[in-house]
Amino acid sequence: MQTPVPDYLLEVLESCGSSADGAVADYIPELAAADPDRLAVALATMDGQVHAAGDATVRFTIQSISKPFAYALALRDHGLPAVLASVGVEPSGDAFNEISLEEATGRPRNPMINVGALVTHSLVGDASLEPDARDRLLLDGLSSFAGRPLDVDERVFDSELGTADRNLALAYLVRSYGVTAADPEEVVRGYTRQCAIRVDVRDLAVMAATLAHGGVNPVTGAAVVPAWVARQVLSVMATCGMYDAAGDWFSHVGIPAKSGVAGGLIGALPGQVGIGTFSPRLDEFGNSVRGVRVCERLSDDMGLHLMGTPATGAHVLRRSVRDGHAHTLELQGAVRFSGAEAVLRAMSDLGPEVHEVTVDLSRITSIDDVGRRMLLEGVRRLGLDGVRVALDRPDYLERSPDQS
Ligand code: GLN
Repeated sequence: MQTPVPDYLLEVLESCGSSADGAVADYIPELAAADPDRLAVALATMDGQVHAAGDATVRFTIQSISKPFAYALALRDHGLPAVLASVGVEPSGDAFNEISLEEATGRPRNPMINVGALVTHSLVGDASLEPDARDRLLLDGLSSFAGRPLDVDERVFDSELGTADRNLALAYLVRSYGVTAADPEEVVRGYTRQCAIRVDVRDLAVMAATLAHGGVNPVTGAAVVPAWVARQVLSVMATCGMYDAAGDWFSHVGIPAKSGVAGGLIGALPGQVGIGTFSPRLDEFGNSVRGVRVCERLSDDMGLHLMGTPATGAHVLRRSVRDGHAHTLELQGAVRFSGAEAVLRAMSDLGPEVHEVTVDLSRITSIDDVGRRMLLEGVRRLGLDGVRVALDRPDYLERSPDQS
């Protein structure tokens, strides 16, 4: 049998492909030459499978989709407090190239808009790094996220650098506030190079999947950034990734995302999937029109909306059976806070006549650290009350089946 996923992706592209709405970005002259009809999608799973459809071999510049990955590298290199001191995490509600600075401090509102991304760029690696060395660190870092060596589109780089007045103005402005001491010309050069890194949709899907997989590339197995970094980046993507359309996007699609002016778009759903799309025509917010539609379809069809996750708490306790002084609690599914809370409640309701409790864990599919600690505490407290507790799979409470 052949998996139907690639056929499904083709069907999604066909259903979203007919729109010619939007316009190719032309403020970077070289981008205006892009073929507006190109359309591609890729999905990367948490076990490293990549499915793609459409113009999946076409390469394009990553542009603003580099921002979350540069942010990840800056967090890795300097830690959260130091990065937060220079760049905030509040949605700006402004366009990507706006002067969105906090009034009192001049700190850029978030790392997804240009002014924040310029500061983030200068935070990758040590402040004393030679510009070439920072360029290499970024290229190597983004390549680790993609799982293959990426390169720079020199034509797009030259084209954007020749017309970068606005980014230069932003870089001078943040330096005037003392937010950064970095040389504005150097920062804009390096940031423009970062934006000119070339990718295809598969690269984007794997990069997104690496964030969704706690910072570990699911294809290569490389630990690219720590899990806390991936969580921080996904949080900022969820609130700020789609610029002034971020609220609309999150309520419709519900996937942390980032767009770029060359027409790329990524979505990263924690623990499930990384998505990459490509279609160069953009809406008024600078987001790919058909890329947004494809993501809307994927989210609807596959139930990917983060806020649509069904509550699992009630279902974790499969059965609760009394037999004289003995009681059995059967658990199932994925045990997290809400499920473990339901089990603790059942334990606390047992009553003094119960002397023996069996906790049957054989049907659970995963248990996270919080769930494990809560169940262990329940077992400990039952023991203090003089109840004998038998765990049929005690190993599940030592270490979860999926290590989550
Ligand atoms: N390099 C582009 C710029 O700075 C990136 C913008 C984007 O992709 N939204 O203008």
